[in-house]
Amino acid sequence: MSHYYQTNAITLSRQDARENDRVFSFYTEGHGKVLAQVTSAKKIKSRLSGHLEPFGIVEIGVVKGIRKNRLASARAKNRYENIFKNIEKIFCAGYCLRLVDEIVREGVSDNKIYTLLHSGLKTLDTQEINGSIKIFNAIFTVKLLAILGYQPQVENCIGCAKPLIDGNNIFSIKRGGVVCAQCADALDSGTRVCPNDIKLLRLVLRLEMIDILKLRASASVFKKFNTIVAEFLKFHLH
Ligand SMILES: [Zn+2]
Repeated sequence: MSHYYQTNAITLSRQDARENDRVFSFYTEGHGKVLAQVTSAKKIKSRLSGHLEPFGIVEIGVVKGIRKNRLASARAKNRYENIFKNIEKIFCAGYCLRLVDEIVREGVSDNKIYTLLHSGLKTLDTQEINGSIKIFNAIFTVKLLAILGYQPQVENCIGCAKPLIDGNNIFSIKRGGVVCAQCADALDSGTRVCPNDIKLLRLVLRLEMIDILKLRASASVFKKFNTIVAEFLKFHLH
């Protein structure tokens, strides 16, 4: 087994370590989430630090250690400059990086997470956000949770598996999906969802990240979606 590898990565966060060192957190293309120490990273002349700014793709070389990894090389490949020019985009991109850093464990390797993060940054770089911060972040959240095995069930009733007919359907956070009026009777709580709410949930799960800013819905549908996703995330974080 090799002790050194090179891979494309997205910088998630950095933390000061002892003396002038820093520990960087990356989501990599081939090795999932990786923590690696950079020696003397705090020094102005640090050879590697300049390549590790957020919102871009960097090719990193990692020397694997028993207790910790060391970053041997870093070369910035692509920087999404347009994100830096817009405070809303910075906020969204920062949220995506932080969420992956917080809820994905080190060593969890899934190329879908890398692709989601990459396309999220690319979307922010190439498209206008126009006040859609909350909806962008909520969509990224639900897509990440789906990859991690917590995909909300929105096609059929999660209780009886029958198709959802227009009416008193409920999104049950606890059960992880939509339940019909009959099955909802026994539930303690839930959010009532109308056909348009269910339609938006289905579309979000089907569409690629690059297409999600084209989604149109009423303010109340977006608001309910944001609430459901926030509660869903909270439920799975605890
Ligand atoms: Zn049912």
